[in-house]
Amino acid sequence: MYENFWKDKYPEGIPSEINPDEFENIQQVFKYSCERYANNPAFTNIGHTLSYSELYRLSGQFAAWLQQHTDLVPGDRIALQMPNLLQYPIALFGAIRAGLIIVNTNPLYTAREMEHQFNDSGAKALVCLANMAHLAQQVIPKTSIKHVVITEIGDMLPFFKRHLVNAAVRYVKKMIPPYNLPQALSFRKVLSLGEGKAVVEASPKSNDLAMLQYTGGTTGVAKGAMLSQRNLIANMIQAKALGTSEWVEGEEIIIAPLPLYHIYAFTSHCMLALLAGAHSVLITDPRNAALMTKAISQWPFTAFLGLNTLFVSLCNYEPFRKLDFSKLRLTASGGMPLQQAIAERWQQVTGCPIHEGYGLTETSPIAAANPYMKYQIGSIGMPVPSTAFKTIDADGNDLPIGETGELCIKGPQVMQGYWQRPEATAEVLDKDGWLKTGDVGFIQPDGYIRIVDRKKDMILVSGFNVYPNELEDVLASMPGVLQCAAIGVPDEKSGETIKVFVVRQPGSAITEEQVLKYMHDNLTGYKRPKYVEFRNELPLTPVGKVLRRELRDEELAKRKKS
Ligand code: AMP
Repeated sequence: MYENFWKDKYPEGIPSEINPDEFENIQQVFKYSCERYANNPAFTNIGHTLSYSELYRLSGQFAAWLQQHTDLVPGDRIALQMPNLLQYPIALFGAIRAGLIIVNTNPLYTAREMEHQFNDSGAKALVCLANMAHLAQQVIPKTSIKHVVITEIGDMLPFFKRHLVNAAVRYVKKMIPPYNLPQALSFRKVLSLGEGKAVVEASPKSNDLAMLQYTGGTTGVAKGAMLSQRNLIANMIQAKALGTSEWVEGEEIIIAPLPLYHIYAFTSHCMLALLAGAHSVLITDPRNAALMTKAISQWPFTAFLGLNTLFVSLCNYEPFRKLDFSKLRLTASGGMPLQQAIAERWQQVTGCPIHEGYGLTETSPIAAANPYMKYQIGSIGMPVPSTAFKTIDADGNDLPIGETGELCIKGPQVMQGYWQRPEATAEVLDKDGWLKTGDVGFIQPDGYIRIVDRKKDMILVSGFNVYPNELEDVLASMPGVLQCAAIGVPDEKSGETIKVFVVRQPGSAITEEQVLKYMHDNLTGYKRPKYVEFRNELPLTPVGKVLRRELRDEELAKRKKS
């Protein structure tokens, strides 16, 4: 029923099915693009650009080093731990060409988190930023990592700039704590060891693993989602069909502020953009609006992939608002709910609407998106081709179209399971291939889908379900509010009651009374918050999602003490 429901709903020109086997493995996609777009720019960072052919050559050097100077064999895991730098695609495609499985690792992880991820994945090699090497040093003896490559931020820049940038990071900012890793090699040394050497191109089968992608961090223990070659290739083709079918091959310039180690940016820039021969401008620190604005000001960018938090911060930065947006045709948002007030503001500032998409690490990640120029604000769009959605009730029974329940997804981009965790896998994946998302939503009769909230974030006030997203949407539209979050806190009378956290816009002096009044005027009784707390910032995940759970934990700890 659900599988066929969308067939006649896709706008004209969008297929309901794609061929997930168009390429057998990522190596083939990479080779295809590097040959086809050889002289086009592939990635830019800190003012330096790598063409497709340079990326092919350098990734070949990295692959040759892996093959000739280490004991790693196809199927072994390699952890890549760095922010958006040119070294990332070089190491990524080098490792892929050598047949290794990628373990993307957050560069802001603590030693405890690194140890968990390296041990859980059984990684044998690590490429990390010098800034993290002191932590790697603590952790490596407790893991199976044997080969370590250390890189500094400016390593791929031309001679003078490289020394300037690296020296600035090392000495002026004192950003590199001392470390002692005698077995480690520098990234540049590794490339020179592989120079001129032949690569034996790995040729994995489509169901072989390409990546262990550790999920979110907003829930429980981090688990490795097993994404196969086919998962990632299918998702690339699906996203192209629905979201970016209007892209002109070899001509798009895409701003990449989201970290490539997160699956949203990974699939967008290292798969989809590559297939289109696009040029991704990598932003290393998107939290610095000034640096980011400067970095993108010289590019006539045509696409921008971001999320709510980033749109808020950029729209509030005057020099960003003054940029030339005349070429911008596609802005995409995903990873968290897009607030309507922000979507409208972005459109005012740039003249370009935001197309919202939706997905999870477990779906490689894109499961639904608003088709190009056929968007509905407030909706996550429709399933990407060859994908079905359904909703189920608390007992797991299928619900009719239109009814709110837990969203489930089926399609060729759904992961194979969690790495070495059959029980956790069985909790979310059933024998027919349906993945339970933990998100609550409904499917409209026209095929568009709306998310109401995440199951776990729901607040229960006197038996009424309250969804923080709705409250945050309202609060975000209040003048003077920069960022906000809503959580449930225990309450004797109603079980739970609502507390909101607000970060004021610079110069704003809104008060608790004003916030409460605004919510009172816009929401029905049980949805009105009881408490307001102003903060200078909110805890965010590295991609910018508000960590409601952290706020809730803090609140519970405070209450326990008093
Ligand atoms: P992750 O696996 O870290 O990418 O997180 C996936 C989760 O992000 C989903 O289960 C949703 O809860 C949330 N998410 C992603 N996109 C959206 C969206 N457009 N609207 C609401 N929530 C979203």
